[in-house]
Amino acid sequence: CAATRTFHSLRPASPLPPPSLPLSFPSFAFSFLPSSPLPSHPALVDAANGDAISYPELLSQTRSLAAALRSTVAVSKGDVAFVLSPPRLDVPVLYLALLSLGVVVSPANPVSTPPEISRLVGLSRPSVAFATSSTAHKLPSDLPTVLLDSPRFRSFLKADSAPVPDVEIMQSDTAAIQYSSGTTGQVKAAALPHRSFIAMAAGFHALRPVDGPQQVTLLGAPMFHSLGFFFALKGVALAETTVVMTAEASRYGLPALRRVVCGGAPLHVAAARRFQSRFPRVELQQGYGATEAGGISRMINPEECCHLRSAGRLAQNVEVKIVDHVTGNILSVGQKGELWVRGPALMKGYVGDDEANASAFDSEGWLKTGDLCYIDQDGFVHVVDRLKELIKYKAYQVPPAELEHVLQSSPKILDAAVIPYPHEEAGQIPVALVVRQPGCDISETEVMDYVAQQVAPYKKIRKVLFVDRIPKSPSGKILRREIINQICGSVSRL
Ligand code: AMP
Repeated sequence: CAATRTFHSLRPASPLPPPSLPLSFPSFAFSFLPSSPLPSHPALVDAANGDAISYPELLSQTRSLAAALRSTVAVSKGDVAFVLSPPRLDVPVLYLALLSLGVVVSPANPVSTPPEISRLVGLSRPSVAFATSSTAHKLPSDLPTVLLDSPRFRSFLKADSAPVPDVEIMQSDTAAIQYSSGTTGQVKAAALPHRSFIAMAAGFHALRPVDGPQQVTLLGAPMFHSLGFFFALKGVALAETTVVMTAEASRYGLPALRRVVCGGAPLHVAAARRFQSRFPRVELQQGYGATEAGGISRMINPEECCHLRSAGRLAQNVEVKIVDHVTGNILSVGQKGELWVRGPALMKGYVGDDEANASAFDSEGWLKTGDLCYIDQDGFVHVVDRLKELIKYKAYQVPPAELEHVLQSSPKILDAAVIPYPHEEAGQIPVALVVRQPGCDISETEVMDYVAQQVAPYKKIRKVLFVDRIPKSPSGKILRREIINQICGSVSRL
């Protein structure tokens, strides 16, 4: 739109319920299911052993679990439930039951270390946790915990005598707290309203193929991450089958594969080409989004999937502008600048962090993504570079500030900075620049081991460069861009 220089989807906006209507995400999703009869194909399938949950079972388990959690665990609207679980078939059922009670779901990466988990718990302040016997030991000991792999939890799924809880939930109520470092600093707790998931599901619903084969989605994205969290739930709103990858599956029914959706990090053209030559009949779609913003752009049809260098066209109900991050001027087609987003899928804000909220949003509610992008004349979004302080290792978030904090806690290290370095398989790897304490001879391996003992495996430092000083601004801020330019030179940054 040239007049206002904001960009919108080329597709018609998908109708959304009025924002003032009380509506939870599960009620919205279940409202699309044909009631009699319910779909006869499974709602959820476990890829490892073929166990399945049918649509009638999904509805009854969600109700039973909600009733049991309310009466037995005493959770109620507004409470936060921390979820620390490897992928399991009952995780989407747990999410739906908690959301239908108005309980805020806060899922975290099960490979996180106990100190990382206590930081997350300190941000979201849960009253209960759901874990498994393999993860529960990492939780703070005073947090009441329900084990998903216990007979007690299994009995909750079957309790049929309990009355169905009736809770009024507004679309603006918080549905989930997801963890992200945003554009700068340490990890933060992003609060996403029910409306965010309603808006994203409505977009998928409006574009679903009306005729054609039954959609089956193999969910490989982790269910604690914003992408996997949403995909674990949206299958219900589309009456699809979602196959949950609970273990490393080495053999797939590849002849049936029709489409692969890739998101969370850039898809390199060379990797995309290799995929296409191996699987010429499979559509390779890309999507671009962020925890704080939901889905921003995606590819929908085979014609769009040919645009390998782009992250797709704008999603429906999303408004976007490109802003010169130095001058603040709004830019037009083909010009590179920071991508700002507005729309119903945005987070409400970071919990308890006014300072971060003030820099994340402008006064008109635009969220600054921290991504350097341009939109071409055909409406495709191109993500060119990341302006924000975020490393993405295999699409997992690695906040440099967190690693710098760990490095600076070593008595052998005087100062440190962490930057992303491009890597073909992982996308980016964290590289540390380290200034040793005078007289200390700490080695590269010692530095890497020191960090590895304290952080989740995907956050490990993969290379160390010893330097005399860390370039800083007069106010002491690490001049990360300058360091990245020096170290990476002209190598592509993403
Ligand atoms: P997260 O909050 O973990 O989903 O991370 C969001 C960030 O991942 C975005 O702000 C981008 O920097 C990056 N990202 C996500 N999807 C893409 C994509 N398709 N292409 C390039 N970068 C992406």
